[in-house]
Amino acid sequence: MSSIGAVTRQIEALEISKKINATGSSSSSLRLVHSKQPSQSNVSKLLTKFAAPHPFPNVKPAHPPSSLRNPTSTSRQASEPPRPKAAPSHSQIDIGSYDGGLEIDEEKRGQAIYGEAAEELALDSSVSRRFPTREWHLFDFDMGRPLGKGKFGRVYMVRTKAEPKYILALKTLYKSEIVQSKVEKQIRREIEIQQNLRHPNILRLYGYFHDTKRIFLMLEFAGQGELYKQLSKVGRFSERRSSRYIDQMADALSYLHGKHVIHRDIKPENLLLGIDGGLKIGDFGWSVHAPGNRRMTLCGTLDYLPPEMVEGKEHTEKVDLWALGVLTYEFLIGNPPFEDRSSVSNTYRRIARVDLKFPAHISLEAKDLIAKLLQYEPQRRLALSSALTHPWILKYRPRSGES
Ligand code: AMP
Repeated sequence: MSSIGAVTRQIEALEISKKINATGSSSSSLRLVHSKQPSQSNVSKLLTKFAAPHPFPNVKPAHPPSSLRNPTSTSRQASEPPRPKAAPSHSQIDIGSYDGGLEIDEEKRGQAIYGEAAEELALDSSVSRRFPTREWHLFDFDMGRPLGKGKFGRVYMVRTKAEPKYILALKTLYKSEIVQSKVEKQIRREIEIQQNLRHPNILRLYGYFHDTKRIFLMLEFAGQGELYKQLSKVGRFSERRSSRYIDQMADALSYLHGKHVIHRDIKPENLLLGIDGGLKIGDFGWSVHAPGNRRMTLCGTLDYLPPEMVEGKEHTEKVDLWALGVLTYEFLIGNPPFEDRSSVSNTYRRIARVDLKFPAHISLEAKDLIAKLLQYEPQRRLALSSALTHPWILKYRPRSGES
């Protein structure tokens, strides 16, 4: 049986080689969020009627330098797996059995919506780009095993019926529940942001479509599931494992900030793991596209909020640097640094005072990185470029050729 990882890598490799062939440099596809341009549809094309019938057998996987994939990054793509030699067939991959959950849901939940909200949520990637691509419908997929349940609907492992039978995660969102939660604009923004992002540590959104009640997102399949579950299972991660994740996270954030996207909701619950164990940022619910924009909305998760947000001040992309420090701490210690289970106001107070304590087992280098990220003054927080060359990150970064 072919591995899903091998197929996923082939999709990525093909995408990269297509970009380079089409543009001479893949960096041209890395545009600002919200701009529409043809190069964004490269992957959609792979999934459309315009794609070659079966692209894999004759394609040599490309190895572009990381700077081509991610021009804002200072570094390599350490998480990039070695490319497979043989081209496996997608149809051989076991996608598991479907539990009928979509039909069960459809009977129980969701009403049709009308008016402005219906327009806002009529989301279809086939028409959202300058050049229309193929339309997608639910019947274009073979349904596989359930992957999880989100706030607005279920997520399934699926395979496209058309050759070359791509493996994806299909996420459903009930429109009426989105409207009830008053997050139409936020969901739309999340989708718009995510569809424009191309980074190995950011979950790809290949396309989306809708019917009267639901929106369907065609997402990259994150084969190893939720990072949070793994953290809960083992309590805390080793220094090596934490450093590898933080390296990937810093690289992805550097890419996002280069496109003026602030994530604002970094936490283990929003991170998935790819088939090769690489970290994938998988939730853009709170992201803002803010070129030169200072924001004042209070959002995000309490434990990861920086002092400026706790104190209701304006904030910038530096909030993500703070959250990176909190994440590093939580990976190594097992809980966030300012957590106070007795009261929310105590947590706020500890954040505002940067009341940071380390257990004895944390290395000096890790402490140094965390302390440099968890600075009260946003301007004093370690820049991502410096985080990517910090000794604790370099110590565990595999040299090229190592995995
Ligand atoms: P969400 O609606 O994003 O919270 O997704 C619900 C659950 O589905 C998550 O907690 C994951 O376990 C799973 N899931 C979501 N997206 C994916 C994906 N792209 N690949 C694999 N599992 C996923």
